[in-house]
Amino acid sequence: MRTSCLFCLFCFYLSFYSSAQEIPEVDQDRLENTILTLAKYGMMENGETNRVAFSDADLEGRAYIISLMQVSGLEVSVDFAGNIIGKRAGRDRYLKPIGFGSHIDMVPNGGNYDGCVGSLAAIEVIRTLNDAKIQTEHPLEVFIFSNEEGGVMGSRALVGELKQEALNVVNSTGYSMEQGINRLGGNATRIPEVERSEDALTAFLELHIEQGGILDREQIDIGVVEGIVGIKWWDVNIKGFANHAGTTPMSMRNDALLAASKFILAVNEVTKSFEGKQVGTVGRISAFPGAPNVIPGEVQLSLEIRDLSSEKIEQLFEGMKSRAIEIEKEMGTTFTFTPIDATSAPALTDPRIQKIITEAAGDLNLSTKQMQSGAGHDAQDMARITPVGMIFVPSLGGISHSPKEYTSPEDMANGANVLLRAILLLDQAWF
Ligand SMILES: [Zn+2]
Repeated sequence: MRTSCLFCLFCFYLSFYSSAQEIPEVDQDRLENTILTLAKYGMMENGETNRVAFSDADLEGRAYIISLMQVSGLEVSVDFAGNIIGKRAGRDRYLKPIGFGSHIDMVPNGGNYDGCVGSLAAIEVIRTLNDAKIQTEHPLEVFIFSNEEGGVMGSRALVGELKQEALNVVNSTGYSMEQGINRLGGNATRIPEVERSEDALTAFLELHIEQGGILDREQIDIGVVEGIVGIKWWDVNIKGFANHAGTTPMSMRNDALLAASKFILAVNEVTKSFEGKQVGTVGRISAFPGAPNVIPGEVQLSLEIRDLSSEKIEQLFEGMKSRAIEIEKEMGTTFTFTPIDATSAPALTDPRIQKIITEAAGDLNLSTKQMQSGAGHDAQDMARITPVGMIFVPSLGGISHSPKEYTSPEDMANGANVLLRAILLLDQAWF
């Protein structure tokens, strides 16, 4: 049963569309087949697939995607950042396109569902529209973003955030981003031309596997993403005094590793002292000089905080810093925090699109849960220029970035059907 407000034009359009026209459903077997076919590009002898951006397998996978898009009647191009873009005309060419899609590159030793489900579901949506002979009012634009796993390269370029320094970063294939872009058919010297303006798209939607275990554990069909968490990183340097571990009494030490231990506990305590889903992690630590018989004089560790709110990330960091000051006094050590530039701001999805996704799932009798994304996605960058929505489908056991990653054909089709319906509802409701 639809829960809508009677007097809102937006809801009126939603009810109008779903009653006036039967919305077709995607072909689950066809979708599954394309997932299995894409998995062959980069498949090794052990049956696992390795398709890191810029690799030969990536080039072959992209050629497959381009051919699928062409067969589906899309007007396909590769932009200067290596993004594959497929356009389908709308009835009204003056309307801004509705964009949707994801990525097909993977982390080394990754899985066949991260990014691929959203990419191939986007193409399946086009094929389903073709089969049902539906032409939308808005033009549609399918995006297969380049090198998502190596720093959301393609989507960053689209929003004008791909910095020159990033182009020198080399990934596991041995190619730098600059070389990689050229390999993909882009042109690294013309990246600024790729940037889209804030009124270039009506909205952007991304279907993605959850990469966590919440939907699978709670047996929920669809995650309606409220936002993608912001990530902040710091290098933390702790200076004590390296001294003889045999002759320095316990009361006279400035042990940097002991101070680090207290700080790691403090990070955990401060993070848990706030209401909400924020996470704080120390994931790397090195002690110097690193000998069994020397009191550690210096420690370097990483600090990461993630949350949907930048203010909360700042509050958490302030809380951790004041605990560090207490530890400095107690231990006779000094803490230095250096922010690292590999961070990303939180991106909230558009509440109107969240509502459309929830409605679309409800129409299909699928259960939903509002949730946040703890992982970064292309939609996070797209949110800088257009309203975005994200649809999650379950990942078996919450496993991702692993060859064991799995999403069932039914769950993939559910996600694709919600994507299709959400696009059609958006098409009618949003001008
Ligand atoms: Zn992904």
